[in-house]
Amino acid sequence: MSDSYDVVVIGAGPAGYVAAIRCAQLGLSTACVDKFQDKQGNPSLGGTCLNVGCIPSKALLDSSEHFHRIEHQIDAHGIKVKGASIDVPTMIGRKDKIVSTLTGGIKQLFQANKITHLHGHGRLLGDNKVEVSGGTEERVLKATHVILACGSEPIDIPVAPVDDKLIVNSTGALDLNKVPKRLGVIGAGVIGLELGSVWRRLGAEVVVLEALESFLPAVDHQIAREAQRVFQAQGLDIRLGCRVTSSDVSAKKVTVRYSNNEGEQSEELDRLIVAVGRRPNTADIAAPDIGLELDERGFIQVDDHCRTGITDVYAIGDAVRGPMLAHKGSEEGVAVAELIVGQVAHVNYDVIPWVIYTAPEIAWVGKTEQQLKDEGLPYHTGMFPFAANGRALAMNEAVGRIKILADAHTDQILGVHLIGPYVSELISEAVVAMEFSASAEDLARIVHAHPTLSETMHEAALAVSKRALHKTN
Ligand code: FAD
Ligand code: AMP
Repeated sequence: MSDSYDVVVIGAGPAGYVAAIRCAQLGLSTACVDKFQDKQGNPSLGGTCLNVGCIPSKALLDSSEHFHRIEHQIDAHGIKVKGASIDVPTMIGRKDKIVSTLTGGIKQLFQANKITHLHGHGRLLGDNKVEVSGGTEERVLKATHVILACGSEPIDIPVAPVDDKLIVNSTGALDLNKVPKRLGVIGAGVIGLELGSVWRRLGAEVVVLEALESFLPAVDHQIAREAQRVFQAQGLDIRLGCRVTSSDVSAKKVTVRYSNNEGEQSEELDRLIVAVGRRPNTADIAAPDIGLELDERGFIQVDDHCRTGITDVYAIGDAVRGPMLAHKGSEEGVAVAELIVGQVAHVNYDVIPWVIYTAPEIAWVGKTEQQLKDEGLPYHTGMFPFAANGRALAMNEAVGRIKILADAHTDQILGVHLIGPYVSELISEAVVAMEFSASAEDLARIVHAHPTLSETMHEAALAVSKRALHKTN
């Protein structure tokens, strides 16, 4: 096996493995170093996303959604199901199988593209050398180009240290062996809400403690308010302005203490999920003397083209600025591979879709109404509820709305915000429209199939110029 490559990628998450595949497609000899190990201690490609992030969380969200529907919604269709129960080990086993299918798929893609996979910790040395250690390989590779794609890990907080028994982080929350009676979640961010929803739907009483006074502050405020109301109605006990200050673990319970504007409070719980955000995995990514610059939070400093300050060293994905989203990292991976071979490539950071996979789902792209107000940009709003959409009613899922924000002068779409059924899929239409600088009028003139949820997007676009067809006011 050669020790010299055109490109060495450190990290095989969605940023790194995609970068490696694109490099190989472009004819570059490529190696990818990754240290992730699965529960059995075996190397597993795909990073956080495939192993302990996007995919396993969505698998559990789907299982729990089926259970919830059978328990609470199926009788509306006239279907009687008696005595439904959840077999947690089977549900977790299904999730694990999906993960191993996908991670095995990356292994096959690496083989098909002749990408060398080295298992171990990669560390950038001077002269674009990469030391590999601590895994199945101990080597120093020489690379013409290096792509750092080391991703991120859950943030620990000393007030609630993870013991992987009663207190878990997002990884442990994907592997609980039974439904806790009373579950606490610290952090009402995307991950906290998704994982809290899984266990709530399976019957846990869920208390979400969030230090901030506002709910989902990055989401369009109108959509966030609607989400908060729906989640509370589902039984998620979301407590804002509650900062966790300490916790105690006994044989079977966790006591969490927190402060809010009424003083010190406490809660006794059977399990606690810490979901207070993620930090870049950069503690030992490079030798200290080679000049790789990190910011004060540990993110690798890069320019608009993911170039670090070191010649021919790039960094992508969760380890650099921008949203911590799998698809953002993958697009950076493609762009960097193409830049390396001298092609023109860029990522349009203004049009990156966000999704929260709760039920109803939340999705958005572009600017929120509060951002437009803060920037003093005049805009028109078009809104349409799923309650007036035939398909949503037929599905018994007529919750939520679509809101389109368009420039008041040019009608160009500036932001699209959705809450409702399958909006993780519907958001793509908005992304395509914005990528092509479409106006609301463009969307309004596109034929949408009937009956589909996408007609809500059509009506919202018509509503921008106050001509929605199925609206009474
Ligand atoms: P990672 O996926 O973190 O991969 C980095 C890899 O590099 C890992 O395998 C790591 O072990 C390895 N590594 C790190 N340092 C080294 C080193 N020095 N040497 C060798 N290997 C190293 N995003 C979405 O877009 N949609 C979702 O639905 C979604 N759901 C999520 C749910 C959960 C529970 C979590 C935790 C995250 C979720 N995310 C989601 C976020 C998503 O997982 C990340 O944005 C994405 O995985 C980042 O990709 P990455 O390639 O930059 O890093
Ligand atoms: P995110 O970064 O989107 O995953 O969200 C993490 C959330 O956790 C943020 O909204 C933080 O405000 C919240 N958070 C962080 N520390 C604490 C704490 N000690 N108590 C309660 N919430 C916290």
